Amino acid sequence: MCLGYILNIMKFSNHTIIVENYPQPGEHLLYSTRTQALVKINQELKHLVMNFRDMPLEMKERHQAHVNHLLQMGLVVRDEAEDKKKLQEFQNQLKHGVLKKRFPVTILTTYACNFKCVYCFQESSRDFEKMSPETAEHAISWLKSKMEQFRYDELFLIFYGGEPLLNKPILEHIAGHIQQWCRRHGFDFAFLLQTNGYLMTPEIIEKYKKIGLSHVRISVDGVGSDHDRNRPLRGGGGTFDRVMKNIADCADQIEIGISVAYDKGDITPIERLLDYFEERKVLNKLGRFICSPVHPTLGGKDTPEKVVGSSCMCNYEDKLLVETNRKIKELFEKKKVATKNGMAISVCPLTRDKAGVTIDQQGRMFKCNSMLGHPDLSTGNVRDADYNDRHREFLNLDVWRQCPQDCTYMPMCSGGCRLMSFLNNKNFKTASCKKPYLNEMAPEYIKRDYDALVAERNKKKKSA
Ligand code: SF4
Ligand code: SF4
Repeated sequence: MCLGYILNIMKFSNHTIIVENYPQPGEHLLYSTRTQALVKINQELKHLVMNFRDMPLEMKERHQAHVNHLLQMGLVVRDEAEDKKKLQEFQNQLKHGVLKKRFPVTILTTYACNFKCVYCFQESSRDFEKMSPETAEHAISWLKSKMEQFRYDELFLIFYGGEPLLNKPILEHIAGHIQQWCRRHGFDFAFLLQTNGYLMTPEIIEKYKKIGLSHVRISVDGVGSDHDRNRPLRGGGGTFDRVMKNIADCADQIEIGISVAYDKGDITPIERLLDYFEERKVLNKLGRFICSPVHPTLGGKDTPEKVVGSSCMCNYEDKLLVETNRKIKELFEKKKVATKNGMAISVCPLTRDKAGVTIDQQGRMFKCNSMLGHPDLSTGNVRDADYNDRHREFLNLDVWRQCPQDCTYMPMCSGGCRLMSFLNNKNFKTASCKKPYLNEMAPEYIKRDYDALVAERNKKKKSA
């Protein structure tokens, strides 16, 4: 028995969330917002950690292995100083390091779009220029240099627009070239096509799968007029019927995820959309659904502080978001459809050196897609060896220092969305806190993550 263990204080980390009495009374889930570890413990172990100093020696000895395990997972720390030190190391890694071995980069091959969506973030600031072959070559060289410099395992491109299928030659050139290069250099490569679905055909999907297409994401805003009202053709006219036909034609070939934006907490359009897919026997062929409130967007070139659209997430009451999220969760569970959910580190990429890369059609780089079309918020150019001063300004905001350092959500939030701060406070520096929302939703997400883990484990046991 190591005496140090007995004498140590031991406490749950400030960044451990305890979900009590789940899955059974007397059982508790622990989740670390710093390490993302998730475990179940019993009442006795919880009681021991919470009252460690005063607990009998026999009990400490009996649980030594368990407590050490919790220590390794970052769910328990020896004292406040250790907690603080680990948080600072984490923040440093977050700011300068690479959290995952996948390098996701969004590429806009064009701002041009055949749709004229009512809440389009680019409508007031777009030009219709397409990416030139010369810019594409610079983008390719830049991607290769970053892969070699940081030795990621995988390059993951997201082709985005505008409508990326309006500049197919450049998309095909970039994906085809990068795929070959990655193969030769031992990197994995895949890409996602974020499209409005209007021009998607089985032939395009077949061709693109050969150059690395792994899945497609299409924005659909409801059924018939619900969709057409938000997402009409640029020249006028509905788009729903054709998009649905294209989805049905391609659903057997590739995973198609659906993004749905809801407005003012009304989920009726989502409900009707699920019924529509179900009636046509397409629902169980689709990939994940991502439902989000209509996104906050900057205004036109000269008035970025003017929010575009009638409603955006930053104007949502936390209560409304919570209620809406619950309704969506129930709806998707009823239909047995996968959604994007669960706990994750979602610290704003603006404040992280190597996160959040979007390259626009001129080769300018942005750390947030909602800032596209605002050259003064660009953080560099693929033609340059280094990022610019705006990048360094964002990186050094260190918003998290304003927050209470023992905030449970600090490692996964670190001061919140910088765009919301800009929209609400006209600066990027102020913390943008959604803690009441996180307090409500975190336990539900943790329970969902736990249930999914158990289901996965049971499935593996059955098939073994
Ligand atoms: S500013 Fe907000 S929307 Fe933009 S990247 Fe950061 S978290 Fe995302
Ligand atoms: S913004 Fe709020 S929830 Fe996020 S770290 Fe700061 S205090 Fe915590």
